[in-house]
Amino acid sequence: MAGFDGITLALSKGRIFEETLPLLAAAGITPTDDPDKSRKLIIDTNRADVRLLVVRASDTPTYVQYGAADLGIAGKDVLIEHGGADLYQPLDLNIARCRMCVATRQGFDYAAAVRRGARIRVATKYIDIAREHFAGKGMHVDLIKLYGSMELAPLVGLADAIVDLVSSGGTLRANNLVEVEEICDISSRLIVNQAALKMKHALLQPVIEAFAGAVKP
Ligand code: ATP
Ligand code: MG
Repeated sequence: MAGFDGITLALSKGRIFEETLPLLAAAGITPTDDPDKSRKLIIDTNRADVRLLVVRASDTPTYVQYGAADLGIAGKDVLIEHGGADLYQPLDLNIARCRMCVATRQGFDYAAAVRRGARIRVATKYIDIAREHFAGKGMHVDLIKLYGSMELAPLVGLADAIVDLVSSGGTLRANNLVEVEEICDISSRLIVNQAALKMKHALLQPVIEAFAGAVKP
């Protein structure tokens, strides 16, 4: 696309970029810019046939789905919400690890609300994951879509609970919230455009294999 016939990899800056660097190194790829310092959205590498696209984390599957990128690195959270249609997902890269969980204000009796079959309000960026989780428990919930800082919602009465990603739990603690249920483990996956996998197989296969060999257990 756009006159580039090498490999285009889409990823987000921040933790995914940082944790992908060792995997890229294993494939002999070194970016020539740091997206956390540079404002460039297309980053060249030491290899003339490999470039990186810096995208919003939740946009990564979209770039790969439409073939604007051949490969991408995206959190399982993002892939579940996106639907993952048509994307080949060959590898769990085991990076950007965290867990999806339900959290409430300290003192909110979640167990009792569940037992009573109470209707609760849940704020989240992850509407599909939350809907499926509470449906599986037979709970009636009103879902409120937020785009960030979910921790605020229970503190100001916008919601009884949130569904959000947690790693250390530091943000929950700092806001007097407690994790009351784990929904699933999250890590980032390699995603591949199906057509590119066929058309650019000779270029892509060694990169996929190098990534596979560099994944840490
Ligand atoms: P934005 O920050 O642009 O709103 P985002 O929060 O989805 O978007 P990141 O914070 O870079 O973007 O997170 C990217 C991915 O890293 C997430 O999709 C998730 O898979 C994972 N992730 C999110 N929070 C954590 C965390 N606290 N620890 C480890 N991995 C995380
Ligand atoms: Mg974030």
